[in-house]
Amino acid sequence: MTEEVAVIEGDGIGREVVPAAVRVLEATEVDLSFVEGEAGDAVADERGEPLPEETRDLAAGADATLFGAAGETAADVILPLREVVGSFANVRPARAYPGVDALHPGTDLVFVRENTEGVYAGIESEITDGVTTLTRVITEEASRRIAEYGFEYADANGYDVTVAHKANVMRTTDGQFLDAVAAVADERCADYDTALMDALATHLVMDPDEYGVVVCPNLAGDVLSDLAAGLVGGLGLLPSANVGEDNALFEPVHGTAPDIAGRGAANPTAAILSGAHLLEFLGYDREGDRVREAVRAVLSSGPRTPDLGGDAGTDAVTDAVVDHLD
Ligand code: ATP
Repeated sequence: MTEEVAVIEGDGIGREVVPAAVRVLEATEVDLSFVEGEAGDAVADERGEPLPEETRDLAAGADATLFGAAGETAADVILPLREVVGSFANVRPARAYPGVDALHPGTDLVFVRENTEGVYAGIESEITDGVTTLTRVITEEASRRIAEYGFEYADANGYDVTVAHKANVMRTTDGQFLDAVAAVADERCADYDTALMDALATHLVMDPDEYGVVVCPNLAGDVLSDLAAGLVGGLGLLPSANVGEDNALFEPVHGTAPDIAGRGAANPTAAILSGAHLLEFLGYDREGDRVREAVRAVLSSGPRTPDLGGDAGTDAVTDAVVDHLD
């Protein structure tokens, strides 16, 4: 059965790395049909709307979506798109690869980030001149759901679980988050550790090998996973999955990288690995592994893009990944 994949390149290097990922997906010969949708700054300029209705409908109706990045309009594009696919978990693996400089070569972390609330619930106001507020939303339901997903993922993939929080300061919201995690762990007879998110940032830099799956509220997951990108060789390497019950959106963790956009020098690895997650989500585990193996081989032997110390372009790296698939 042909699976329909919505492809939304967006802005900046999204226009370079998403086509690279699509080329790799095509090379796997999985029966996929790609349908393109527009979103981001350029569409907002042209049509006054960063996420046109037809792009929403495309993502809602497809079996999965591959997204690149959006610039200034990112919040108006990715937050609604995550909602459209019903995503509640943002999964961000950060792994060290042979051939790529990493602070600790054994690093193998997976951030499971709550994806619907926290400080990203969008409740901000200016109550008077010079005084602004932000409401942090933490619900029992969403906290339980992310804990369940995190424990399940850790079980299935052989990781320990650490739960990041700041309940010593945000007593009510992160207190509830921790209570929900504890209840889920109890029901599943699962072990886990907790860590204050600021202290965890230090430990992740000094001893990343001590950690596996890190379950986080929304903002902490965003920040800590970017930190982990620095541990393993940069943002060009980190894929992500926005997982819902029966739909999902896959995107590199990086943004539009305006400093290198248009030069053909962006590292396509994060987007290609996001494609590998997409294949797994659609049930093509073996092909997802094949893509990952091909990426691993190319990172190890080259060619490499400038962010990894090489001088190859996006296309050359993509060609090499496609060659390794054979
Ligand atoms: P945005 O505003 O869209 O988030 P940004 O430049 O602030 O863009 P990122 O796009 O995440 O944030 O990138 C941060 C830096 O990391 C970029 O300046 C770029 O140099 C580097 N970078 C990110 N992604 C890649 C990539 N795929 N290949 C090479 N370098 C990258």
